Amino acid sequence: MADKRDYYEILGVDKNASADELKKVYRKLALQYHPDRNKEEGAEEKFKEISEAYGVLSDSEKRAKYDQYGHAGVDGRWSQEDIFRGVDFDDLFRGFGFNGGGGGFSSSIFETIFGGRSRRRGGPQRGSDLRIDLAITFEEAYKGVEKSIKLPRTENCSTCGGSGAKPGTEPRTCKTCGGSGQTTRAQQTPFGQFMTTSTCPTCRGRGKVVDEPCIECHGSGKVQQKRTIKVKVPPGIESGSRMRVSGEGEHGSAGGPPGDLFVDIYVKPHKLFKRMGNDVVVGADISFTQAALGDVITVPTVDGKVKLKVPAGTQTGATFRVKDKGMPNIHGYGQGDLHVQVNVKVPKKLDAKQKELLREFARASGEKPAKENEKGLFEKVVDGVKEKI
Ligand SMILES: [Zn+2]
Ligand SMILES: [Zn+2]
Repeated sequence: MADKRDYYEILGVDKNASADELKKVYRKLALQYHPDRNKEEGAEEKFKEISEAYGVLSDSEKRAKYDQYGHAGVDGRWSQEDIFRGVDFDDLFRGFGFNGGGGGFSSSIFETIFGGRSRRRGGPQRGSDLRIDLAITFEEAYKGVEKSIKLPRTENCSTCGGSGAKPGTEPRTCKTCGGSGQTTRAQQTPFGQFMTTSTCPTCRGRGKVVDEPCIECHGSGKVQQKRTIKVKVPPGIESGSRMRVSGEGEHGSAGGPPGDLFVDIYVKPHKLFKRMGNDVVVGADISFTQAALGDVITVPTVDGKVKLKVPAGTQTGATFRVKDKGMPNIHGYGQGDLHVQVNVKVPKKLDAKQKELLREFARASGEKPAKENEKGLFEKVVDGVKEKI
């Protein structure tokens, strides 16, 4: 997955390419690299690569996931078969003489693309992927955290050893599928016939039928068991990120590898801090005298406090930057900044002395402050008329 190229890059289109553009580009590339026409080494790989890129980008849901999360948003979410299901090959190659089974394209390449793995009878199958949500605090996202998660996984039943049959009895071979666990049917495509295989409905893919089921697992041969997994969340992780824990999905069958566990991270909002990219925004209240005269204030950061100089004449809403006190970069180098947004507080209650000092300040500033009488009314000459309001 790490080495996968960008889908847009593969098709050589930009991120805003329209559906029509994608179709045009894919048609051209598909005709160029189709292994039936192009026998050069690597043509088949290239054909598969462009087909997958087109399969994802031509579907708005898959494209949105890919735009948001990259390959992590696609891998494990959709199988190869899912990716190509929505692609109308018939429509794509109309007019190129490749319609129907008699065209130039053989079915073999499509069998390769459509994931031969799932059709191989009784062969090893990779286990399913699992997905969970993990909520962490803002501080944990800042420092990184190791979380223990209890997760159920399907394990073989220990009572019957996974056979599903009551101890002392034996499961018998399924008559519907002859023990393969799968039924096959032929499907017609523009490129010829190919076979699709589905899970046998009688034995549900197990190839065997149990007459006397095991009491522990009710004949399934499987039990849900809780296990604890440690997930290491790196510092700087953003809400909505998806982490992959390799091999912690469901077990594979017939010796196939296990699936992966996907962990979707949710960072709980903080009452003081707000994240903007790798920067953190925090609010700080200062008094109007501090704002007017300037001062040194202490502001909280995610892991402590810093001193900040507020210059004289600071207005409410002014923002000051404290370098390298934001979130750490998820890639392990650098750090965002802390933006301190100042809010100038006007006092709600003043005593007589404070009021008099402020009136004196107002007079010194050339203002004519109103007088407050004992009833709490303001007395002032407004437009030549003495008012009591
Ligand atoms: Zn059992
Ligand atoms: Zn069967």
